[in-house]
Amino acid sequence: MTPTELLRLDRAHVWHPYAPMPGQVDPYVVESAAGTRLTLADGRELIDGMSSWWAAIHGYRHPALDAAVVDQLGRMSHVMFGGLTHAPAVELCRRLVELTPDGLEHVFLCDSGSVSVEVAVKMALQHWRSRGRPEKRRLATWRGGYHGDTFHPMSVCDPDGGMHQLWRGVLPSQLFAPPPPDGFDAPADPAYVSIVADALGRHADELAAVIVEPVVQGAGGMRFHSPAYLRELRRLCDEHDILLVFDEIATGFGRTGALFAADHAGVTPDIMCLGKALTGGYLSLAATLCVPAVAAGIAQGEVPVLAHGPTFMGNPLACAVANASIELLADGAWRADVARIEASLRTSLSPLGGAPGVTDVRVLGAIGVVQLAAPAPLAVATAAAAEAGVWLRPFRDLIYTMPSYVAETGEIERIGAAIGAAARASTQHHQAVGH
Ligand SMILES: *Cc1c(COP(=O)(O)O)cnc(C)c1O
Repeated sequence: MTPTELLRLDRAHVWHPYAPMPGQVDPYVVESAAGTRLTLADGRELIDGMSSWWAAIHGYRHPALDAAVVDQLGRMSHVMFGGLTHAPAVELCRRLVELTPDGLEHVFLCDSGSVSVEVAVKMALQHWRSRGRPEKRRLATWRGGYHGDTFHPMSVCDPDGGMHQLWRGVLPSQLFAPPPPDGFDAPADPAYVSIVADALGRHADELAAVIVEPVVQGAGGMRFHSPAYLRELRRLCDEHDILLVFDEIATGFGRTGALFAADHAGVTPDIMCLGKALTGGYLSLAATLCVPAVAAGIAQGEVPVLAHGPTFMGNPLACAVANASIELLADGAWRADVARIEASLRTSLSPLGGAPGVTDVRVLGAIGVVQLAAPAPLAVATAAAAEAGVWLRPFRDLIYTMPSYVAETGEIERIGAAIGAAARASTQHHQAVGH
């Protein structure tokens, strides 16, 4: 198939994320990927600044990950998980229990991040139902979050950015606190804490759970907050008999400089969602972990089982590559890599702080964000980055990167330069069209 033919068929038949049908803007055709590089059909090679949406933390075609998939393929690709079990899944669950904060003991494997949030919600609601408190079925969160695209996750996404307008009357109505104050290093604001305390106190009787992304709000706006707020949430949830759910789908596996964002706070949630980097970006897999009290609550109900069971639950190929990815993290080298990338992102991005059209520059772990005064024109900004040899995918007013941990310092500098180029192109575009 020629690239032209491929793009014609893509436009006519293939739906892309958050895109209209038929397609309006041609996507870039990728032929292969290795290490930090994407090779396009036109021969260009781009440094991947996105790690395929947080997932490819070890880079593409990593020999150990490739070998794990091939090895597992020689035994079985998949078997149903009802009534059957296998070493890759058991090994993965054992490792996840070991790596995650103390107290999380039980693991539900599922297909994607959104589904893991659905499972977390189901666990929380069923826990209270089984304990004779079915009226505790609402969720609370803070604004600015993102938890996925299926309906319950959507209901706790930021109400302004999360299409709540479109889904009015369909989405369950949840309780929203203001967004957490900005700044990983900022001291906790007692006034903010008392607003949250007041809201949770007033609604405790109807709340099943508080669900938040700890430390980094990702697709809701790429904002960072103090781990101190997580300790406050833990205290308030204990006080008011509300479960605490951490969505670590984006933050898990080292991205923020700690293995899990919860580790910055020293807090164990009652339920935790993992996904994205779980398989090193190879296959779709997610996990919902919980503490024994949540499972025990469900077990004492009239219906004592968690009635959920995806067809591809515990997929052996996905579990095998997840085990290999965790094995790569086990030697701890990621910690130095993330620290090195953080330092190098600070050096490369901070000069953009005073640039025209740039309102903020922030870095945490292997995450770099440049915020603009106006939305980045997607095609223009992407093309400017590609011209500079880097793949970036801005959203709204944010040009950001979360490179793979194997990116070398020279590559981080090139990503920084490309972010600068994309920001300049965006600003010039707005000036040219008269905004
Ligand atoms: C990506 C993401 C999800 C959704 O995961 P999918 O695998 O895309 O369904 C949920 N929560 C957070 C924090 C995410 O970053």
